[in-house]
Amino acid sequence: MGNHIGERAVVLGGSIAGMLAAVPLSQAYREVILIDRDDLTEPEPDRPAGVLTVRRAVPHGWQLQALLAKGQRVLEELFPGMTDELVSFGASRGDFNKNVRWYFDGRKIKQVRSDMIAVGPGRPLLENRIRARISALPNVSFRQHTDILGIVATPDRKRILGARIQSQQPGAEPETLLGDLVLDATGRGSRTPRWLTELGYPEVEEERVKMGLAYSTGNFLIDREDDLLGEDVASVPIGTPNLPRGAVYARMAGYHSITLTGLLGQKPPTDRAGFLAYAESLAIPDIAEVVRRAEFIHDPVPYNFPESRRRRFDKMASLPENYLIMGDAACIFNPIYAQGMTVAAVEATVLRDHLSHGKTPDPLKFQRDVVKRGTAIAWDVAGAGDFTHRGVTGNKGVKFAVGGWFVQKVTAAAEFDDKLSTAFMRTAGLIAPPTSLMRPDLMARALFGKKSAPVPDPGYTPVRTAKVADIADASDAARRTLRSDLRKAR
Ligand SMILES: Cc1cc2nc3c(=O)[nH]c(=O)nc-3n(C[C@H](O)[C@H](O)[C@H](O)COP(=O)(O)OP(=O)(O)OC[C@H]3O[C@@H](n4cnc5c(N)ncnc54)[C@H](O)[C@@H]3O)c2cc1C
Repeated sequence: MGNHIGERAVVLGGSIAGMLAAVPLSQAYREVILIDRDDLTEPEPDRPAGVLTVRRAVPHGWQLQALLAKGQRVLEELFPGMTDELVSFGASRGDFNKNVRWYFDGRKIKQVRSDMIAVGPGRPLLENRIRARISALPNVSFRQHTDILGIVATPDRKRILGARIQSQQPGAEPETLLGDLVLDATGRGSRTPRWLTELGYPEVEEERVKMGLAYSTGNFLIDREDDLLGEDVASVPIGTPNLPRGAVYARMAGYHSITLTGLLGQKPPTDRAGFLAYAESLAIPDIAEVVRRAEFIHDPVPYNFPESRRRRFDKMASLPENYLIMGDAACIFNPIYAQGMTVAAVEATVLRDHLSHGKTPDPLKFQRDVVKRGTAIAWDVAGAGDFTHRGVTGNKGVKFAVGGWFVQKVTAAAEFDDKLSTAFMRTAGLIAPPTSLMRPDLMARALFGKKSAPVPDPGYTPVRTAKVADIADASDAARRTLRSDLRKAR
């Protein structure tokens, strides 16, 4: 067996978390097989359709997805040269602080040069380039068009032996794929909690933060002279308690995106007139101005995200051996903070470190490190932001109440203060924990530093909102529109 821990690792889910996990697994197991029900062949990204081809299982691929500063660093560690590769395919790159405009209540955080990089590939291109790297690993293979039916355990249910899978080929029978390690990366719909209770384990504790987030995203083309970003790569007016609607406007790989966001029942419309009206209601005028100038390549696509959810596998008394859980299967975050893929990348490094001991990772120790090094900081950053909104419910601690109040002071004073701006962006980029803002000098700057009046004042009047259409239908319609637009353009 050489230096390998085992013969085969089976990864359930061949998306971001599964593929990132495959990097360290490929060094520890003789063979790594990723199972996914989706079609994982897609056009090359240097062809127009490839840039915006969204998989069926990832309808949020239409939405703007970017990497945080920490995600960029870890991705580069896992795949040397990846940042340049993404940029060579058209992804935007800039300084995570200097080239991104962050607004809270209309007040822009000071743009200060930093050592953090922002990359804007968009989800389809990012997945495509990671898949290209994984496919090049000689001992890693994908089984696409294959449904995962369940997991297989020893009679005493203490160890997982493999997975039950079934190809979508007509007439294919269910089969058992044995593995020395099985890793669940099946995303938010993961059935691990159910599978565990079926094996006799107690229910997994779940923490939730309900914020009722709604997205509507339009991807578009725009002439350079009409692009209000100039040298910057993104402009992000965040929804705040004064105005629980916001936007992300960013330059991606060969196209631009605007995602309009609403919290607590605010629904950004999906018709173009409503989209513009909603953009006009934001705290800064740029977003609406760009919507007026943009040449949309499809109708805006909605996505509803009712709540963040963290499954506390780390708190279980025991877990079956040879079974690990990563990515959205373990924790999903309010996407406005753009944390999910970065956390999945960090978790891949946790896996690498656990595998470096030369034996199968201890499941409980692994899940505890997933929380400690992966999800905890992101969960705290997101919770502190979410709970500033009255009406957000869920597992709220004193930590979130104080953290949220303090973050509002920090972001207000960061309009004029280089040090606060840098410190805040390091936490937002998941480079530093939120506690790093609690240094006495930073606290003094946040509490007593100069602040301008928030815009808009509380008591704004919401504009009309459209009914949000069924997500799948809208995605399919948008995909058809994009395809036919691109076909005509060729
Ligand atoms: C609207 C929105 C915007 C977001 N924006 C950002 C962002 O800007 N930055 C960021 O970092 N993150 C963002 N995220 C989060 C990010 O998309 C997720 O964290 C990331 O996709 C998690 O990857 P995953 O591999 O864990 O799960 P997924 O990407 O959901 O993949 C799960 C895979 O498992 C497969 N699968 C599931 N069940 C089965 C089954 N039974 N049989 C076979 N295959 C199965 C699916 O086909 C899929 O390929 C956003 C999320 C949303 C919803």
